[in-house]
Amino acid sequence: MKHPDELVARVATIELLLLDVDGVLTDGSVLYADDGTELKRFHVRDGSGLKLWRAAGKRAAILSGRRSVAVDRRAAELGIAPVVQGCDDKLAGLARVLAQTGVAPERVCAMGDDLPDVPLLRRCGLAISVADGCVEARAAAHFVTTAPGGRGAVREAIEWLLRASGRWDELTARYTG
Ligand SMILES: [Mg+2]
Repeated sequence: MKHPDELVARVATIELLLLDVDGVLTDGSVLYADDGTELKRFHVRDGSGLKLWRAAGKRAAILSGRRSVAVDRRAAELGIAPVVQGCDDKLAGLARVLAQTGVAPERVCAMGDDLPDVPLLRRCGLAISVADGCVEARAAAHFVTTAPGGRGAVREAIEWLLRASGRWDELTARYTG
């Protein structure tokens, strides 16, 4: 992973990781149970990455166009807040997240995979997309993960951010030292 100086300076200012759900925290599949419940499949390594992110003193939030109880549950497990769901207009959703957190958009790293995410990716201080993101989302990103959505892409993004800010070794030393 290479970090040109300008990117390193941007990464250092990031306080909040703002995550899309479908296609980022999941592989984009929307599963319906017979009772109408919507099911999501999350990757456990994204969860451990988000724990490292919080251990670094950083915050994470969710902004999703869809609405799912499973997302609230996963967010609660990982200490992700705020969670804004059912929000088609991602810039309006960003405004809600900024109002709730008091974080400036320049200090937000947005992660998205599809066209509705593109204005958000352009508005935030840092933008990350996934290997199987749409062309426009990948083009708007400062970093594109090698993992596709739902397969450890969030973990990879967090590792990239923490390595760029020189925090990765310290935060993982309890496992590797
Ligand atoms: Mg998406």
